[in-house]
Amino acid sequence: MTLNKNPYDNMLEQLDAAAQIAGLSMEEYITLRYPEREFTINFPVEMDDGRVEIFTGYRVQHNSVRGPYKGGVRFHPHVNMDEVRALAAWMTFKCAVADIPFGGAKGGIAFDPSTLSQKEIERITRAYTAGIMPLIGPEVDIPAPDVNTNAQVMAWMMDSYSKYKGRNTPGIVTGKPVSIGGSLGRREATGRGVSFMVREIARQLGIDLEDATVSIQGFGNVGSVTAESLYSMGCKIVAVSDVSSAIYCENGLDIPSLIAHVNRHPKHLIEGYDQDGLEPIDNPTLLTLNVDFLIPAALENQITKEIAMNTKARIIVEAANGPTTFEADKVLEDRGITLVPDILANSGGVTASYFEWVQNLQHLSWDESKINVNLERKMVSSFEAVYNTALEKNTSMRMGAYIVALYRLVEARKLRGIF
Ligand code: GLU
Repeated sequence: MTLNKNPYDNMLEQLDAAAQIAGLSMEEYITLRYPEREFTINFPVEMDDGRVEIFTGYRVQHNSVRGPYKGGVRFHPHVNMDEVRALAAWMTFKCAVADIPFGGAKGGIAFDPSTLSQKEIERITRAYTAGIMPLIGPEVDIPAPDVNTNAQVMAWMMDSYSKYKGRNTPGIVTGKPVSIGGSLGRREATGRGVSFMVREIARQLGIDLEDATVSIQGFGNVGSVTAESLYSMGCKIVAVSDVSSAIYCENGLDIPSLIAHVNRHPKHLIEGYDQDGLEPIDNPTLLTLNVDFLIPAALENQITKEIAMNTKARIIVEAANGPTTFEADKVLEDRGITLVPDILANSGGVTASYFEWVQNLQHLSWDESKINVNLERKMVSSFEAVYNTALEKNTSMRMGAYIVALYRLVEARKLRGIF
């Protein structure tokens, strides 16, 4: 995977370009070019064999002008400050596009959880939570799941924080297990939201979803739920990939049996799955297939300029954060390939996190239909705001999304003033 472009530079290029189209002066949006606070911690953890290892973790709080910092925690060997910084900034813009009262943050620990035991991952998570304790709080900064973290990791974070504070504090994280204050529908929300965005852009462009072809890079929580939702809408998912492999099937993958296979696999991977007509492919092939929808649902910088020049996809819907480089964006625009940007397309996760947080603060639990109805309503209205702004300014949906976010963020800064 090509992770070499600094994702924060990518974010700044997007931001500056959007501010220019929006007619904003540097002074009006300069605070958004810098993270408000950054934290690096190095902490020891005892491994199962008795060795002590030092781990490095990060938390970046990018902006809080619209509300408490919000954003996930990622476990991945490539995690570094530049990546976390960019991801934190994208959370600021995402929460503004979604029009939920949060700022943006992100955290991460640089390690590969697939090589460690659950007990080791638990100790790392608790030590990290203790390390960032001075920075977080249910009305200050609220972590959530991201790449390679899940409800169990959130349960450990919530438990550690609650023990230190001497009181049960479910609102400290979102994406918790439902039995300890999590929200119904939260786990599925990002993928479900991506499928709503596919449906909305298909409607705008007059594409029938029945038998529309889709390829999806990444089959974790987001990629697999997106596949499941689109499959139930009648789409034909012809290719998917994960860290273990990439597969193609011209007649469409049997998504329910693929998901059953992944759930049975000890590491939740695609490898070993088989069905009639299945062909192994590689990652560049998956990204350049002749499909109606390409959905990157893995990591940053996957759609490079080269992929953008070669892809035969009609529409790209970004389920991952930052999957397309700034240079690639220009090529896609020139080639007339529509792109539904990350800060809109994957905002279903943080939107359902907002619903979870509201329930926690009020000691209430909503039923799943209330979550889903509100999620769909919010996402469809964000889509319309972004789509119409892009049309009005004669620009891409990426720029449209940034402009929607920028107007809201700049207005909040003006009202609050400089201090
Ligand atoms: N990690 C998710 C994202 O990138 C969710 C963040 C959250 O729910 O706070 O949007």
